[in-house]
Amino acid sequence: MALALTPWLGVRAARAQNEFDPAITSSRQALRVLLGEGDATAVSADSFTFEGRLYRGNFQRDATGSVVNFVDLEQYLYSVVSREMPASWPSFALQAQSICARTYVLERSDPRRGYDLVPSELDQVYEGISGETPAGTAAVGSTSGEVISFESVFAQVAYSSCCGGHTESSADLWGNAALPYLSGVTCGWCTESPSYRWQRSLSFETLAQRLASGQPELGTVLDLRIDARDSSGRARTLELVTGGGSLSVAGSAFRRAVGSRVLPSLLLTGITRLPDGSGVLIEGGGLGHGVGLCQWGARGMARAGRLASQILAFYLPRTDIRNLS
Ligand SMILES: [Zn+2]
Repeated sequence: MALALTPWLGVRAARAQNEFDPAITSSRQALRVLLGEGDATAVSADSFTFEGRLYRGNFQRDATGSVVNFVDLEQYLYSVVSREMPASWPSFALQAQSICARTYVLERSDPRRGYDLVPSELDQVYEGISGETPAGTAAVGSTSGEVISFESVFAQVAYSSCCGGHTESSADLWGNAALPYLSGVTCGWCTESPSYRWQRSLSFETLAQRLASGQPELGTVLDLRIDARDSSGRARTLELVTGGGSLSVAGSAFRRAVGSRVLPSLLLTGITRLPDGSGVLIEGGGLGHGVGLCQWGARGMARAGRLASQILAFYLPRTDIRNLS
């Protein structure tokens, strides 16, 4: 299929030169989204179906047979914003989400790879035209070309559902170099989230099963404690008391092992043993990794009349909004 759009060129070049040059990051270029294996059929010159969903742009199959969607960045964002944040939320929250999502793409896209993004929460949720909403599309349109920059380069943005009262430091969670705009802020805006505070009971038997794959000698689990907290209060390490002794587990590895449904976040306020001794009651706050924009907080700020620029300045301090168009 002939491609009307060409892949992103220059995004990485701009970063390598430590420059922020709107001229070489024109939004006229196409983004490449790896949709995966499946049936794809052209519907028109600028739309096609993949596995029953309608997508904008066009597609190619890569060497492995997977379908790659070539789509205009702004049109990609119509779907992402609508899937990453409820369309019923205030327009300034949706606009903040749009600017974050656009920046995420530009900061990460790499022309040396076969594709730029996957369409899941590993990058950003994207479901083509089938996932679009009028409110999400309007938010993208009203922020067209707007991105977040820090010291003349694209900011490394992140966002998650609810921070539980304090956003997370990217350096603490991911071990990368500290970034002044991702070092964590106290957030009083997300209290209306159903995940602002939560409780989960976790049996020792389940705990042993979930953690067993990497720890064959684990044995019977007897207790679970918070060993150390990071700067935001999240559990940096947990101590697992077993029949064979104590084991220290990194918080992020622990959450991966037990699953995000069991542990919505690592902002744990307390762990107590269940009365029958079969496990623990875990109390905590927030949903997601907590780095960057707190989406429920953006909703709270927008409901209080704050603009998208004010929301982003609060969660990503010392950054600027710039317009590429
Ligand atoms: Zn928050």
